[in-house]
Amino acid sequence: MTKKKLCPLCNRRLPNRICPVRGEEICSKCCGLNRASDGCDENCDYYRPVTVRKEVNEALPVYKVLKSKSEGSYAIVVSRERTNGKLQYITLLIDVWKMGLKDCFGSHSITKQDFQRKIIKMWGNLSIFAEISLAEALWTVKYGLRIAKEVKTRIPREFEEYGYILGDMADVKVEGSLYKCFKCGKGEISDDEVELIKEITRHDVAAGVCGTMAETMVYFVCDECRKNKTADKHR
Ligand SMILES: [Zn+2]
Ligand SMILES: [Zn+2]
Ligand SMILES: [Zn+2]
Repeated sequence: MTKKKLCPLCNRRLPNRICPVRGEEICSKCCGLNRASDGCDENCDYYRPVTVRKEVNEALPVYKVLKSKSEGSYAIVVSRERTNGKLQYITLLIDVWKMGLKDCFGSHSITKQDFQRKIIKMWGNLSIFAEISLAEALWTVKYGLRIAKEVKTRIPREFEEYGYILGDMADVKVEGSLYKCFKCGKGEISDDEVELIKEITRHDVAAGVCGTMAETMVYFVCDECRKNKTADKHR
């Protein structure tokens, strides 16, 4: 029985990766350790994903900013055009009625075609979205972050990875009640109502029913929306 050839670099492990620079097989550990310094380039299947670098620049032109036309839970998509002609995008799922920012994903570099394909695959249809301004998207994200922090929703790791695509949010101000009017999304609701929502959220999260049919349904509106509703009735 012939002895299997060992990795020429470490002479310890079995080689399992063809290295185009060396023209021979090396082990995955050595590949990881020597990559780049070896002169690896785009021809290497293992090195190429690493070269897809973030382009952190909030001056990159905004491509599309989308918000789902849903109630209570929104999907927000912010995309920018990179200098290489591709897009970078971040998608955030924000539950403004309970958990706040709860999920996030994105890409540092994707073609416009693949971006569209991905969105359609995810939601079936682009028409569930409306185009909004970047300012409104950022406000909603900050609103969602503020809720998440308060009710201790774990901020997804992906937010750290793709959050740069949003740009600087230091100037985005979200003030007043933690939760806003369920109808208009902007008006204030009372402290008692906020406390009640927090309690319900804690309960629903512990029971694992948030976002399911079994979750507790409440609905609070601001004074303005309440007034309009009464006015409607008297018409
Ligand atoms: Zn090795
Ligand atoms: Zn390589
Ligand atoms: Zn309102």
